[in-house]
Amino acid sequence: MSDNINTSIEPFAKKDGGLVALDVHAIRKDFPILQTKVYGKPLVYFDNAATSQKPKAVIDRIVHYYENENANIHRGIYHLSEMASEAYEGARNIVQKNINAASRGEIIFVRGATEGINLVASSWGRAHLHPGDEVLISGMEHHANIIPWQIICEEKGAVLKVIPVTADGELDLEAFQKLITEKTKFVSVVYVSNSIGTINSVKSIIEKAHAFRIPVLVDGCQAAPHIAIDVQELDCDFLVFSGHKIFAPTGIGVLYGKEKYLEAMPPYQTGGDMIQAVSFVKTTFKEIPYKFEAGTPDISGAIGLGTAMEYISGIGRTMIHDYEQKLLSYATEKIRQIEGLKIIGTAREKIPVISFTVAGAHPLDIGTLLDFEGIAIRTGNHCTQPLLAGFGVSATCRASLAFYNTIEEIDFFAESLDKVIKKIRS
Ligand code: PLP
Repeated sequence: MSDNINTSIEPFAKKDGGLVALDVHAIRKDFPILQTKVYGKPLVYFDNAATSQKPKAVIDRIVHYYENENANIHRGIYHLSEMASEAYEGARNIVQKNINAASRGEIIFVRGATEGINLVASSWGRAHLHPGDEVLISGMEHHANIIPWQIICEEKGAVLKVIPVTADGELDLEAFQKLITEKTKFVSVVYVSNSIGTINSVKSIIEKAHAFRIPVLVDGCQAAPHIAIDVQELDCDFLVFSGHKIFAPTGIGVLYGKEKYLEAMPPYQTGGDMIQAVSFVKTTFKEIPYKFEAGTPDISGAIGLGTAMEYISGIGRTMIHDYEQKLLSYATEKIRQIEGLKIIGTAREKIPVISFTVAGAHPLDIGTLLDFEGIAIRTGNHCTQPLLAGFGVSATCRASLAFYNTIEEIDFFAESLDKVIKKIRS
């Protein structure tokens, strides 16, 4: 272990000069699943980039909804339906406030980041792309931000271009500058890599794209749990994220879009609740966001998402960030010392996601043996096959941490990792 890493969870300095500490042991009590055992050993959950665990506040809110408020929304004129509608629309207000959107119409509830990107690629792309146009993504994208663009480009005769990734796992911004031309019609880029943890300079990408009047979608899936997002400050035109990565349920997510774009886009799906009037001759649609929310949505999911966002705000974004950075440097230093271990992705700015390979040990074997120690990590390509191919590997082990993880867990992880690697090599 490096001498200059402080293993204690020290109080952080507050702006007013006082000191405040993130009490991780108190926070862990909010997450029932963290008290469970796996094969008789305490669960060490290091797969937060895949999905996060849920605090009791979120679980309780969903139970409360089903026990007291369950009804379909927007349609009933009776008390329960009004309560359900109010809770659902209240969640929209919470999301709006949390990401500082200019209006609540700009917040569309979707199934997750995947659906949000598909919505934009399909609706915006179909209306605006023409043969020879170019869409720019990066070499660091999750498959969810590659395939929808590939498909719409094929359909419209447009060309998909890719911002290269450097050996450290950062976006090559000089290359980006050269790739952006009069032909570029859309930029869709990941804020934070799920695979290697890089935090990209999306603000500067947005500024450069806007100089050419090109709209930018930011895939905020991995940023949302770790970084405070202010869409007006970023000036992104679209943003997507998934609830389940930010301590909310699966099946709910958010698409933020600037009003001027959403209003000009045709509906993605059609059906109930998104219409003004229907006849066999013509249908007219509701205003945003409802135009994009066809059918019965995930009502309890949206409500749970609102609660999760309030829970995070309650802890404090700065405190979470500072604590997670400590976890990241401690874990990086600790595992770096294991012989033959190589960290994939060493960008200057990272969230606590560490991808690595180990000479003489397959990621799958490492993951399987760690599981017997109660440690959950992810192995594989993390839905980023092109990125890993660029690093010359097809799979890595990935430890992804959240604010409820501890230094003690990292110690146990590093010790167990060392042990399983020796076992595999023996
Ligand atoms: N984008 C990124 C960066 C991700 O990490 C993920 C999921 O891992 C997605 C998009 C897709 O998210 P979901 O499966 O929740 O739609």
